[in-house]
Amino acid sequence: MRICLDAGHYGKYNRSPVDGRYYESDMVWKLHLLQKRFLEEYNVEVVLTRVTQEKDRGLYERGAASAGCDLFISDHSNAAEQKTVDYPVSYCAINGSADGIGLALAECAERVMGTRQKARIEHRSGSHGDYYGVVRGATAVGTPGLILEHSFHTNPAATAWLLNDSNLEQLAKAEVETIAGFYDLKKSKRSGWVHENGGERFYLGDSGQYVANDWYKDGDKWYWFDGNGHMAADVWYQYKGSWYYLSQDGSMAKGLQAVDGKWYYLDQDGRMATDPVLLVPDKDGALQWPGMAG
Ligand SMILES: [Zn+2]
Repeated sequence: MRICLDAGHYGKYNRSPVDGRYYESDMVWKLHLLQKRFLEEYNVEVVLTRVTQEKDRGLYERGAASAGCDLFISDHSNAAEQKTVDYPVSYCAINGSADGIGLALAECAERVMGTRQKARIEHRSGSHGDYYGVVRGATAVGTPGLILEHSFHTNPAATAWLLNDSNLEQLAKAEVETIAGFYDLKKSKRSGWVHENGGERFYLGDSGQYVANDWYKDGDKWYWFDGNGHMAADVWYQYKGSWYYLSQDGSMAKGLQAVDGKWYYLDQDGRMATDPVLLVPDKDGALQWPGMAG
């Protein structure tokens, strides 16, 4: 299962007229990252349409980024003239391919957010097919696509609710459970080393969580995992002011190492020696380095 998530707007966009602290772009950025995290617990491969919140990208292009995915979701909150308007809606592809999951997600948002009016789905046609560019792009690459409006940021109660980060976490979790129920997905039982999303990850026990932005010691070797949970390899890495070298197999190097034709000395904690290291010939004439494994 592969799902494409789209944060509906970039930068600081669509400020709420009822609470100046709320930007639709901020909310959807946080929400789609939470959805990603919970989806990955179900072994779903998640494709994001943006690398950062600051990154603009065309509507159609974002929809088309879902090529090869089973579902495209663009996260939003809506706006209306009337402050009292308060309901979630999925704008589903006009070919009907996303109607079922679209309604289930809108109803999920209604239940979790406690909106005043009922959830619904709608279809909007334009002169070139789907009215919405992201949905048109998704349809063009054969992905069932929908825009999920998490009620209205012109409604004070909905806006206040969406400003709360723990509410967003609850919402994302419930939406992912809805997706899991709809597609009959089971939670990941992965543990240990897994090749995934173009890198090596290490899953802790059966928690479904992989190591990210941290060291992990497997056996007697240390490994570093980046923010995506991918093992770093064949790279120098600075951590808390010291330099470490992660070998081609990812393990943290110790002792004397040749890297790109130069010699470096790394102590038994993997830290690169930046001061001159004293070379002492031992009784057999071999050079000894302080801390070198004997
Ligand atoms: Zn929007």
